[in-house]
Amino acid sequence: MNTHQKFLFALLIAALLCAPALASLPDANRMEEIGQRAAYTALSELQFSKGDPGVMVLTNAGRAVVNGQTTERAISGITKISGLQNGDSTLWTVNRAEWKPLWFYFYNKYTGKGLFLEPDTAVYTMSKAEFSQVSFDDTFSTRALVIGDLLKIIADSDVGNQTRDALGGESNSIISITNAWAHGAPYDLMAAAMLHNHLCPGLLGGYFPIKYVEKVLPIENSAQSYTYITTSTSCKEDAYPVLWDMTPGKGGAIVHSLSENETAALKEEYGSSPRGIFVRWDSRAKSGTGIVFGSVTQASTAENNVPEWAAKPYRVVMSMATIDKPELSVSTLKTFTIDQETLSELKSAANPYSVIANL
Ligand SMILES: [Zn+2]
Repeated sequence: MNTHQKFLFALLIAALLCAPALASLPDANRMEEIGQRAAYTALSELQFSKGDPGVMVLTNAGRAVVNGQTTERAISGITKISGLQNGDSTLWTVNRAEWKPLWFYFYNKYTGKGLFLEPDTAVYTMSKAEFSQVSFDDTFSTRALVIGDLLKIIADSDVGNQTRDALGGESNSIISITNAWAHGAPYDLMAAAMLHNHLCPGLLGGYFPIKYVEKVLPIENSAQSYTYITTSTSCKEDAYPVLWDMTPGKGGAIVHSLSENETAALKEEYGSSPRGIFVRWDSRAKSGTGIVFGSVTQASTAENNVPEWAAKPYRVVMSMATIDKPELSVSTLKTFTIDQETLSELKSAANPYSVIANL
């Protein structure tokens, strides 16, 4: 190899090393374009006009990390083209683990149809030039037009099976959230469902007591705040971080498990099983007012012909008509006033109910 050949060889190596950069690899604009393509596809498949309040999109964009790239720009792409946006309660980003695949689900509540899209993973890494050659159809490896209306799904088991097959592992989450939304789920409940990642009767078991105590013991000045004590951890707990900023990292709800004997004794004492304790504490007055709350046994809505998998989302949908009436499902079993010392005792006691027994 003479000097000239050596120079050419070095140049060739340099060009090869730089090749990926020269081919212009995808950047955040790729995600925005994927979101735009999803929105265009939905507009045509579900036949709605830009910003239609009867259509919502649910997605894990912003949460999913694909091929090392975050996915939030897909949300901008969707809004730009479809007009669907969170401020109108028509765009919701649901909590999912970062390693889960990215997906979009558009739902038209007037037609009851939904469109589930999952991008082909190849589009995350291809060059700009390659991506421009991919048709909108080929952008998505999953593209399923389904009947998403829960009542229609329940009425026809074939339809139900098709929809659940098409939505796969996202089925329960998507069906419960979008149907509750279509039946009027308020913004704060939707926000709690985004953290919880589905909307179940259990989450309402947190939402209703919150709304109930906000009615019967409202916060009236900046010195007041709530303390919440419960004896079990379940879906209901996920309403508190969102509605009251009561997060585990900042102390959160106070949970003390009770023995079977203690639980049975409480049922006897209160006439029904208490569900928890709320205290509205006033840091200026150094005193609080509290309630022990229970649940009202409701006449169960007819659930004949509702398949087992649909029973919970069905109950949620039926609850939406009275979502602003928490008193239909929550009751006060006892009211008490409390001083600072007793409040500290209440917070740390193994059985909190024993602390307030004589108040
Ligand atoms: Zn749940």
